[in-house]
Amino acid sequence: MEYLGCDAYEKSINSVGSGFVFMAKFGDEDFIVARNISGFKGEALGDGKIKAALTHENAEILRKLLPHTAPSRVLRKDRSFGVGDRLGIAIFGHIKLFEEYDAYPIFAQQSIRELTLTNRTYEDVLDAVTFAVFREGFKKEWGADGDHLKTVKDVEYALSLGYTMITLDCSEHIKPASSAKAAALPSSYTGKYLGKKFDVGEGVTLGFTEAELGDCIAIYREAIGFAADMYKRFLGDGKYNADFEISIDETDAPTTPLQHYFVARELTDAGVSFATLAPRFCGEFQKGIDYVGDLSQFEKEIKIHAVIARHFKYKLSIHSGSDKFSTFPSIGRETGGIFHVKTAGTNWLEAMRTVAVVDPALYRTIHEYARSTAFEEARKYYHVTTDLNKIPDIKTLKDNDLTALFNNNDSRQLIHITYGLILSRKNADGSFTFKDRLYKLWKTHNDLYTQGLVKHIGKHLDLLGVKKI
Ligand code: ZN
Repeated sequence: MEYLGCDAYEKSINSVGSGFVFMAKFGDEDFIVARNISGFKGEALGDGKIKAALTHENAEILRKLLPHTAPSRVLRKDRSFGVGDRLGIAIFGHIKLFEEYDAYPIFAQQSIRELTLTNRTYEDVLDAVTFAVFREGFKKEWGADGDHLKTVKDVEYALSLGYTMITLDCSEHIKPASSAKAAALPSSYTGKYLGKKFDVGEGVTLGFTEAELGDCIAIYREAIGFAADMYKRFLGDGKYNADFEISIDETDAPTTPLQHYFVARELTDAGVSFATLAPRFCGEFQKGIDYVGDLSQFEKEIKIHAVIARHFKYKLSIHSGSDKFSTFPSIGRETGGIFHVKTAGTNWLEAMRTVAVVDPALYRTIHEYARSTAFEEARKYYHVTTDLNKIPDIKTLKDNDLTALFNNNDSRQLIHITYGLILSRKNADGSFTFKDRLYKLWKTHNDLYTQGLVKHIGKHLDLLGVKKI
């Protein structure tokens, strides 16, 4: 709409004191326009107006000026849902979705590995959300997650930018059960745990055998110490306004309910306050496909995991939640609708589905590259059981049938795990092979991508039992 002589985004218009700030289009590009508001760095347009580019500096000013453009601690809300927008373009679909559903989004959510693979920074990730939320006038609270962080340096990096959630990845401190088994159990643990019954409520009582306690100590002792140290260093004194998620999911062996209790109990006794804990569930939560494993076993265990979480007053966090449709009804039910679920890769897959629809030739080239070249490299970093032989030969598919590849688990995983290589591939002259073409396409067809996301992520929320507002 025409506003103060600019082509403004209507929902972005905010009055602050006697001034105004909004987002407007100048040609192909978006800018912040501020009138009678100081702070923004940009070009004077006359009449008290400043035209400010979408830089990190201006994003920080915007966040201070308009609190709804800054992240909040939504992990403490009943229902929170992480949507890793690796590309910085899924956000418009995500905004639409969370305007409709009774859950709080973590819009910014990236791990250091994802930053490296997408060539982004935590500044970029947060700023992209700030500008999108501003443009669309999204007024609900949302969060920013420094996902799967392992070091002091990385945690400090995310917190210093105002990230409101840290997912502390304890995996490097989780040991195989066989290690340290021979040693006698420390008396500080035996006195506390052996020969006792732990009533966690709702009819669930837990008890440890000596062997089970030995496993808990051997596997988790160091990880618990690490989490306690990191908590004291960053959050214990209230210096940062953020929540902790304890992640013990990135290991080979599932976290048994008993081990879950042990970790939660030890952390609580050490004075660590955390909002969520992510166990490694039984079965497999592979990337971008439905649950693999014994669903009835999963349903039995999630019930006890949920009771333990309620007992200690935090939420269960479900990692690798992309497309785990068969598990969602029981997760929603057993947690009583109180949970955190993370998705990431599925948002990228939807972006690639859009490519298959609007530019089949480009999709074919990327698919071939992924299959013939990128897959071997990418599979080193992911636990997947992808069988390339089960993917239909793309040459035999008509353009209209290409999206069927996104209903095939092996094909989904092929495209899922190769995202970093697809985006970073360069030509001999140093230019990107696919990245620039892809972004151009996604910009032009953002409506189609948004529709796809609303439908696909909406299916996640529906099955989890999240109601529409
Ligand atoms: Zn995880």
